[in-house]
Amino acid sequence: MFLKGKTAVVTGSTSGIGLAYARALAAEGATVVLNGFGEGDVIAAVRDELTATSGAAALYDAADMTDPAAIAALVERAVAETGRIDIAINNAGIQHVASIEDFPIDAFDRVLAINLSSAWHVMRAVVPHMKRQGWGRIISTASAHSLVASPGKSAYVAAKHGLVGLTKTVALETARHGITVNAISPGYVWTPLVERQIPDTMAARGMTRDQVMNDVLLAAQPTREFVTPEQVAALALFLCRDEAASITGANLSVDGGWTAA
Ligand code: NAD
Repeated sequence: MFLKGKTAVVTGSTSGIGLAYARALAAEGATVVLNGFGEGDVIAAVRDELTATSGAAALYDAADMTDPAAIAALVERAVAETGRIDIAINNAGIQHVASIEDFPIDAFDRVLAINLSSAWHVMRAVVPHMKRQGWGRIISTASAHSLVASPGKSAYVAAKHGLVGLTKTVALETARHGITVNAISPGYVWTPLVERQIPDTMAARGMTRDQVMNDVLLAAQPTREFVTPEQVAALALFLCRDEAASITGANLSVDGGWTAA
């Protein structure tokens, strides 16, 4: 349990990849601060599960990642209630699929706010604490779409490319303080986020469900397999180890070979 005594905030951890991060961190003893939307009883059950696994009471904060003040308050609450903040994982994310001329402006603003700006606000809030402690790990879930584009995803691709630029910049600013800042870029991971975009992709590209599954999603990945949330979380856990102290400013792909093609 190499993370015993450490506090980890994971945004968007009530579902999918974020929940896998939370479980992996708890399995190594971290105090986890959950965040994201969901049913109260489901979130309470996840908190109980994480607390039982780690032996440290898991917290939940409902901060909406479109609200900078709520993000700062989440970080301050984590520090106030656990005494520290060691690991921050920027993971909350949404998708909207539409061609540029049909893309609603409020959907563009929302994708940028949740997938990019929220990570900036989290980093701004956690870096002073991590510098004071002389140790920190900041990880952001980017995407294969931080490296390549797909039609219909102008907001998401812009946000994820931006997230990598943000990662590199803050890595440089914190490099002398025992803090590493990295992005993980998964290919298609079977989560509710991917499931939800199938109808929109069918409409945007005039395809059937099977065509979207096989010709769009799995076609992108030479392995022809979805990435699993646990595979992504295992890499994040490695980045939290002292052996990973020299990995900073990196964008690490977990994409079944997608961006090699
Ligand atoms: P998901 O829909 O299962 O989970 C998203 C999480 O973000 C949920 O906990 C949700 O409640 C939370 N969230 C959404 N809006 C929020 C807001 N305004 N404030 C706070 N929390 C909010 O999706 P996922 O597939 O697990 O995606 C997680 C991250 O991984 C995202 O950043 C996504 O872009 C990225 N990603 C996913 C895939 C994939 O194929 N699933 C691939 C590459 C990158």
